[in-house]
Amino acid sequence: MKNQVKQILVTGAAGYIGSHVVKQLLEETNYEIIIIDNISTGFQDTIVTLKSLDKTNSRIKFYDKDLSDWDEIENIFKENSIKEIIHFAAFSQVGESMIDPLKYYINNTANTANLVKIAVKYGVAKFVFSSTAAVFGEPNKEDIPIKEDLTTKPINPYGSSKLFSESIIKDSAKVNKNFKYVIFRYFNVAGADTQGLIGECHDPETHLIPLIAKTALGKREAISIYGDDYDTPDGTCIRDYIHVQDLADAHIKALEFLSTNPSDTFNCGYGYGYSVKEVVDTMKKVSQNDFKVIIDKRREGDPSTLISDCTKIKEKMKWTPKYNDLELICKTALEWEKKL
Ligand code: UDP
Repeated sequence: MKNQVKQILVTGAAGYIGSHVVKQLLEETNYEIIIIDNISTGFQDTIVTLKSLDKTNSRIKFYDKDLSDWDEIENIFKENSIKEIIHFAAFSQVGESMIDPLKYYINNTANTANLVKIAVKYGVAKFVFSSTAAVFGEPNKEDIPIKEDLTTKPINPYGSSKLFSESIIKDSAKVNKNFKYVIFRYFNVAGADTQGLIGECHDPETHLIPLIAKTALGKREAISIYGDDYDTPDGTCIRDYIHVQDLADAHIKALEFLSTNPSDTFNCGYGYGYSVKEVVDTMKKVSQNDFKVIIDKRREGDPSTLISDCTKIKEKMKWTPKYNDLELICKTALEWEKKL
């Protein structure tokens, strides 16, 4: 009987997006979930929460391993029968990647290459990869909303490290017909589990929505808006914020998609953008707190507008967002922040 249970490897499941995907895998599938995470940027508590959601107490197997321990990673494949992978584990801070690029090329790119090598060796058939809108760099105005086939031109090592990984995955799939992939380019993932069990937590926190949530709760004195002189209607940057549960749902759909479709790459967002000022105002409304806002100088490397064209994922994957609502995104982020 045991052999009939499908195993899926999720790397980086102690992190923000990975944990929401594991929660949905537990709720909506019957996979046995193998987790590899070194708890460097994720949290042991998140693994404890996920395990507590596993009513059978047997569906999660957690390996506290670093992806750079290539022999150890291969041992996990020897011990199990992994045929599907969702690969999240990576560093994701643009600013840090500018200061320490090799940290990004080694962890994000070299370790992905090794994981793909092992995956192919052990007959993995489905590989879902978390990439980023940062592969597009600073798109021209006429390229917004961004389609999947827009030329990739990353402007920081984080984006490059992910783009190299994309090439490694695509080239490996070309020569290994059994190995198929879905690559997701995430736009601005935000919000938290609507049941309030898991959410976003980075140290240091640099993302807009959790920072505003902290400000609304009085954990910070003010929120800084990085630049109000951009070429946008209110002068602040525009981003396409997607609720983490809708994004998690796309990953579950990707596994089904690969059963009957060839490999493919998808942009993940709602196809609609909000300015920083609009996000601040929305958080003020849901928190009922008129917190302090400072107009600061621009942050280096910030493109003025990033909006996805999400036609392809909706059509090909039959993905239907359920949480496409900035107030809900802010509310869930705020509720989660209260718990931290
Ligand atoms: N931002 C801001 N103040 C902050 C953090 C972010 O004005 O304290 C802006 C940032 O310049 C960008 C947007 O909010 O235009 C989203 O930034 P975030 O770091 O959340 O995501 P990114 O788009 O950089 O991936």
